[in-house]
Amino acid sequence: MRIGQSTDIHRLVEGRRLVLGGVEIASDLGLLGHSDADALTHALAEAILGALALGDLGKWFPDTDPKWEGVDSQVILREVARMMDERGYRIGNADCLVMIERPKMAPHIQKMRENFASALSCGIDQISVKATRGEGLGFVGERKGVQAFAVVLLEEK
Ligand code: MG
Repeated sequence: MRIGQSTDIHRLVEGRRLVLGGVEIASDLGLLGHSDADALTHALAEAILGALALGDLGKWFPDTDPKWEGVDSQVILREVARMMDERGYRIGNADCLVMIERPKMAPHIQKMRENFASALSCGIDQISVKATRGEGLGFVGERKGVQAFAVVLLEEK
């Protein structure tokens, strides 16, 4: 087995979409970034890279490469899944956490889990997605940004 972890932060701004876990969520503020800025998916993808000791997400998907501009982060996650598969590993389980003040994530958690399970070719029971608020404190609480965390365990196939 191999373990990996990661975190990702994106700024919240006006005039951008809010996409988390591959779900577009109605919001007055969205995430700023080169791709769709899906911080939760980025954290999960990078945790898998970490478990494989393959470096960070920016090494494989540089934000200077126009190829990845505005890209759906599920495409990135599927590419990371392919790299994992090639190296002889599959998902044991993943635990993901997004910190966002609002809107509420609860109505979207199930769809996020389905998206991740689909991209990673695993069961939905192997994917945990959780959300917490910042209680008005710090950059999350002040709605300046969103932070996501992920921990994964990979099993040898
Ligand atoms: Mg990111």
